[in-house]
Amino acid sequence: MEERIEISEDDFKGIRETAAFSGGLMDDSVQTLEWQDEIRVCPVCGYKDGFHSMFRKEGKTLRWLLICPSCHRLFDAGLTAAAPG
Ligand SMILES: [Zn+2]
Repeated sequence: MEERIEISEDDFKGIRETAAFSGGLMDDSVQTLEWQDEIRVCPVCGYKDGFHSMFRKEGKTLRWLLICPSCHRLFDAGLTAAAPG
């Protein structure tokens, strides 16, 4: 017996969006993060336990980007670090 699962257009869209956030297909666009007294709460999803860090090399400096652990959006708060060497 072959079973078929019917997926509506809306379900499919939801699945695609979930996959985009949880997999390697995440949106690579970087949003500017407004500085408050501290950077802790994600302005997109409200996650409030801080961010992961990633670094993108730009010449001799590293752009210090923040990744929300919950929605995986990328943020730029204007932070940089000196590249080693
Ligand atoms: Zn988030």
